[in-house]
Amino acid sequence: MTAESVSATPMVKAELVCKNFGALQVLKGITLEVQKGQVLVMVGPSGSGKSTFLRCINHLETVSAGRLYVDGALVGYNERGGKLHEMKPREVAKQRRDVGMVFQHFNLFPHRTALGNVIEAPVQVAGVKKSEAVERGKELLAQVGLADKAQAYPAQLSGGQQQRVAIARALAMQPKLMLFDEPTSALDPELVGEVLGVMKKLAGQGMTMVVVTHEMGFAREVADELVFMDGGVVVERGNPRDVMANPQHERTQAFLSKVM
Ligand code: ADP
Ligand code: MG
Repeated sequence: MTAESVSATPMVKAELVCKNFGALQVLKGITLEVQKGQVLVMVGPSGSGKSTFLRCINHLETVSAGRLYVDGALVGYNERGGKLHEMKPREVAKQRRDVGMVFQHFNLFPHRTALGNVIEAPVQVAGVKKSEAVERGKELLAQVGLADKAQAYPAQLSGGQQQRVAIARALAMQPKLMLFDEPTSALDPELVGEVLGVMKKLAGQGMTMVVVTHEMGFAREVADELVFMDGGVVVERGNPRDVMANPQHERTQAFLSKVM
């Protein structure tokens, strides 16, 4: 492979991804790409399938049809002789390590300090030496503006601080892709900015990100592409400024008039 063809491999490639829960069709053929170093922001009404799509990227859900690739590798399946075989849990776990996920609710371990939370996976899962993990963990906490909170327990931190610990925790596994599912929607309004600031910095450092958020200012400033989802399909997509200033689809207009 040439250097060009390697760098041209998208970080995320979805081809007609469908997901059903029983008779309920939640994703009805999502096709999109996220290039390396790019930030894609997804918006759409509640129930439109945004979280399900993120969960498929991470193989927390299996797709019902279609294909999903992360950095050129099929998510959750091996292809042998033209047939797809579901990966064993160990292989899935290994693949998932490359993808960091940050949720609305931070789910930190309450009985571990901020630093303890950040080093947990590197030490327990990746087998990193504790002293190394601690050193790197402190750097990550400094990166999210929490150098002085390494020894604090989650209950001693604000929601915004806890979410920044959760981001540092995800980064500790050195992911090549970060997924954010409404990372600021459980926060008091005055704490939203500090989390978005960390995400913006991360984007500036070249991290590839898929972000579900209704923070349209963030989308306008940071996203390379804005995708509007409704009813399990991509209704509209494009440069965030263009989509926001001049939505082409009636459903996009209606949605944006509510969130902006
Ligand atoms: P969004 O994140 O856009 O609000 P979701 O992806 O969470 O939407 O949900 C899309 C639809 O899928 C909703 O109707 C939701 O109830 C349904 N859904 C999500 N997860 C499950 C599940 N595990 N079992 C059944 N239905 C589900
Ligand atoms: Mg959701």
